[in-house]
Amino acid sequence: MTVQTDSYNFKAEIKQLLQILVHSLYKDRDIFLRELISNASDALTRLHFEMLTNRDVLDADAELAIHIDVPEVEEGEAKKIIIKDSGIGMTRDELIHNLGTIAQSGAREFLSKIGAEEMDPSDVIGQFGVGFYSVFMVADEVRVVSRSYQKDAEAAAWISDGSESFHVEAADKADRGTELHITLKKDAEEFATEWKLRQIIKKHSDFVRFPVYVGEEQANQQESLWRKRPSDVTDDDYKNFYRQMTMEFEEPLLTIHFAADVPVNVRAVLFIPAKREPGILAARKDPGVMLYSHNVLIQEYCTDLLPNWLGFIDGVVDSEDLPLNVSRESVQNNRIMANLGSTIRKRILRELNKLAEEDAEKYEAFWQEFGRAFKEGVATDPTAKEDVLPFFRYYSSKADGLTSLDEYIGRMAEGQDAIYYVLGEDRRSVAHSPHLDPFKARDLEVLYWVDPLDSLIAPAMLEYKEKPFKNIDDAGLELPELEEEEKEEDEETAVPEKDFNLFVGRCVTTLGERVVEVRASKVLKDSPVRLVSPKDAQNREMHRIYRYLDQNYEVPKKILEVNRHHPLIASLARLINEEPDSPVINMSIEQLYDSALVQEGLHPNPVQMLPRIQELMMLAAQSMKRE
Ligand code: ADP
Repeated sequence: MTVQTDSYNFKAEIKQLLQILVHSLYKDRDIFLRELISNASDALTRLHFEMLTNRDVLDADAELAIHIDVPEVEEGEAKKIIIKDSGIGMTRDELIHNLGTIAQSGAREFLSKIGAEEMDPSDVIGQFGVGFYSVFMVADEVRVVSRSYQKDAEAAAWISDGSESFHVEAADKADRGTELHITLKKDAEEFATEWKLRQIIKKHSDFVRFPVYVGEEQANQQESLWRKRPSDVTDDDYKNFYRQMTMEFEEPLLTIHFAADVPVNVRAVLFIPAKREPGILAARKDPGVMLYSHNVLIQEYCTDLLPNWLGFIDGVVDSEDLPLNVSRESVQNNRIMANLGSTIRKRILRELNKLAEEDAEKYEAFWQEFGRAFKEGVATDPTAKEDVLPFFRYYSSKADGLTSLDEYIGRMAEGQDAIYYVLGEDRRSVAHSPHLDPFKARDLEVLYWVDPLDSLIAPAMLEYKEKPFKNIDDAGLELPELEEEEKEEDEETAVPEKDFNLFVGRCVTTLGERVVEVRASKVLKDSPVRLVSPKDAQNREMHRIYRYLDQNYEVPKKILEVNRHHPLIASLARLINEEPDSPVINMSIEQLYDSALVQEGLHPNPVQMLPRIQELMMLAAQSMKRE
């Protein structure tokens, strides 16, 4: 009987990838084994989940395990390894699709990375979700024989030498799962010993969740790291565990390992990743922790334990108090789950607090990456504030680096009863905000809220430790009186009332509808003008968001407050008296208004100011010449 064999070409990017893999020299070919074991372990996990609801599968009682064997070969014949799993398996169509014709964005990314940075492929291949092909670093030929868990599916084989194409044919395989028959390259014969394979497994795959047998013996310790005592676990163990679990190549920012028996039994190892965005095609892409009960995985991505704003936490939570046969719904509505959730939430916050106290630099890295998640928490969950506000950090008019709200309160002046903030684009521009003038004069600290999310959540912030948050662009803010002397001095330097009124009149005619009112400021010191919101202004924080999102943005109408003591205002007032038709007057008023908008982070398009600035410079230069 002849077997019908069909040939297929690899997708173009896979062909290119194979081209590189087959012909490169590598530092570290070991990793091919890690990739194949990881695929086998995924296949076993998928079967495990299938069987939670469906026991009508092929070989329902077979052990979930991985077997690796080095078969005897004749003298002079190529050496071989066989890797076998009892996982979900693949049908003929799945073999074709998964191992050759699926469009692989990972392959493209891999190729561009290799091309651009001249990297050793073995260093990076695992990061791109094309791990299977790494077998061609060591193989002359691979034969994948697979049988799906579905009872009526037939076994099939996929064969390739890693060149242009692969072949698929029917195969004999009675049991469920996938077998890889790897014919090693001459220069990769070293891998054909059990000892070497065990060594690699220890190094890269020790915590794989299923037993990995080499020959008769289990090679991985497969131990539940989270069930050990923290004192028995080394830093390297955590790192390896994290890496094997997530396939993230950057070390986690923080590792938390703890056990408790009251109010609920829990064993947990949790990680804060280094980055908010998972690495390209990292193994764990969905948020959530792995939930175990009695050491058995019951949910791979459990998002019901922790609030959304802690969605970046990865790791394992195991509890003896959870029933083994929980369904998804009962997990959601379970009192034990609520207890478990609050226990680990508190623990995470405690550890974060410790980090903030002990390692400011690392905490700052955390805040830069995950501060957004906490801010989103305030926006979406009113109960989150109490938990997250102590972790907020801002720049301010006084602190050198980032400051916490507690530190701010610690520095508050006597009699100060509010936490002041200014909204704006970025740290440098708000540092020159005219709203700061009265605060500088009174030596009061102001927080810089310069993240678009700060504007978004400003209305929800309300208060912290009974101190209300106050936006300093509020014209009605009551601040402590300044010393009498200073006030008298003030009267002496002011622009005479009549001239000032003329100037105000000119502002009104020049700016027209764009402002609701022009008036003298009681608080400005160093700045010539500022924009403040009218009393009944709605959503004033939201304007910045609209601008940021570029959504139907209209410049909000505000009150222009003018500093009667500023030399620029004095000069312009004089100019109106002496030379009322000078073009400098109107242009300056326009520019003052535009500059104030920029400072507020409200200007729709600051570049528009450039021609006017140039013209003002020209007029200035010309008048210098005349004098
Ligand atoms: P990745 O595992 O990152 O998706 P791979 O190139 O390693 O990428 O594998 C491609 C696909 O082939 C997998 O997504 C999976 O569907 C399938 N596959 C690989 N190995 C096995 C296996 N041992 N059992 C079942 N399916 C497998």
